[in-house]
Amino acid sequence: MTQNSNTLPATFRALLLTKDGDAVSANVTDVSSQDLPAGEVTVKVDASDLNYKDGLAILGKLGIRTYPMVPGIDLAGTVLDSSDSRYQAGDAVTLTGWGVGERHWGGYAELARVKADWLVKTPKRFSAAEAMAVGTAGLTAMLCVIALEDAGVTPEDGEVLVTGAAGGVGSVAVSLLAARGYRVTAATGRAETEGEYLRGLGAAELLDRAELSALKKPLEKERWAAAVDVAGGATLAGVLASTKYGGHVAACGLADSASLTTSVLPFILRNVTLHGVDSVQCPAPQRQRAWNRLAAELPEKLLKDGVQMAKLEDLTRLAAEILAGRVRGRTVIELG
Ligand code: NDP
Repeated sequence: MTQNSNTLPATFRALLLTKDGDAVSANVTDVSSQDLPAGEVTVKVDASDLNYKDGLAILGKLGIRTYPMVPGIDLAGTVLDSSDSRYQAGDAVTLTGWGVGERHWGGYAELARVKADWLVKTPKRFSAAEAMAVGTAGLTAMLCVIALEDAGVTPEDGEVLVTGAAGGVGSVAVSLLAARGYRVTAATGRAETEGEYLRGLGAAELLDRAELSALKKPLEKERWAAAVDVAGGATLAGVLASTKYGGHVAACGLADSASLTTSVLPFILRNVTLHGVDSVQCPAPQRQRAWNRLAAELPEKLLKDGVQMAKLEDLTRLAAEILAGRVRGRTVIELG
C-alpha cells in the first residue's frame, strides 16, 4: 500500500474483476482508496479465504451485476477508521456473507469499507488467518450443527452423515460433530486421497458419495440419525431416503445440483425434517452464537491440518480447482 497524507493509503492491492462484453477478467491491481465503496467502517484486511461461491465469482459464473468488483465473500482484519460507535480503530473484526464480494467490494483486497452491521468482533481465540480458516464455510457448518441440535439430535441417536466431507463446509462439520461425540460418516468422492485426512478430523466411517446418489427408491434402508448436506441434487434425495425415523437433515449447499427430486414419503412416513441453512443473511444474534461456539469448540486440528495458505495471485488457479472439487478443507488468502 502507498501511504498518503491522511490515515488511508493512496492505493491498495486488490483482485479486481472487470467485464468486457461477456468476458470477465480477474487481475491483481493497484486501486485508489478513493474508489472504496460507502460504509461506516474501513478495515485493513489481514486475511480472506476461498469458498465455492468465490470460485464462481472469479470465473464470471456468479451473475454479479456491477463491475468492477472486488470478490471475496469473507474478510478478517483490523479497523482503521469507524463512524459507528460499536467499532474503534484497532479492533479485530471479521465479516462473512451479506453479499460482500458479490454486490459490495469484498475481501480480496488490502482495504475494505463495509457496513458496521455486517461485522462481528473476531473471537479472541482466532488470529485473522484462523478466523478465515473458519470463514463462511465454518460458520455454515456450525449453523448446521446448531440446527440439528436445536431440533433435539444427540450423539446417542446414532450415525450422523456429512456430505462433501473433504470440502470446506464438510471438513469443519466432520470436525465439529466428532468433537461433540457424534459417530460421523464422511461421504466423499475422494476417499483414496482424502480418507486419512477425514479420519484425522474424526470421521468414524467413509462412504463413497456415489452410493448416496445411486439410492433411487423413495424410502431406503434407515441409516442416519441426522445429516449435514452440502450437495443437494440426487445426493440429498438419497440422504433423505436413508434417514431414520424422526431424523433431521440440515441442507446448505448445491455442490451436486440445485435441483431436488424426491418424494414426500421420508417426511410423511418417517417424520424426517429437512432444515434449510443460510449463513449469508443469517441475523446477528445467531451469527454471534455460532461464532462463540466455534471459538469454544473448533478442534485445533482443523486449523492445522485442514488449511492451506495462498496469495491474491493464486486465486484464479484456485477458483478453477474449487469448482472442480479438488480443494481440500479451507484455503486462507494472506493479505497485509
Ligand atoms: P467446497 O468446494 O470446498 O466443497 C464442496 C464439496 O462437495 C467437494 O469438496 C466435494 O467433496 C463435494 N462435491 C463436489 N461435487 C459433488 C457432486 N457432484 N456430488 C456430491 N458431492 C460433491 O465448497 P464449500 O464447502 O465452500 O461449499 C459447499 C456447498 O455449500 C456449495 O454448494 C456452497 O455454495 C454451499 N454453501 C452454502 C452456504 C449457505 O449459506 N447456505 C454457505 C457456504 C457454502 P468430496 O470431494 O469430499 O466428495
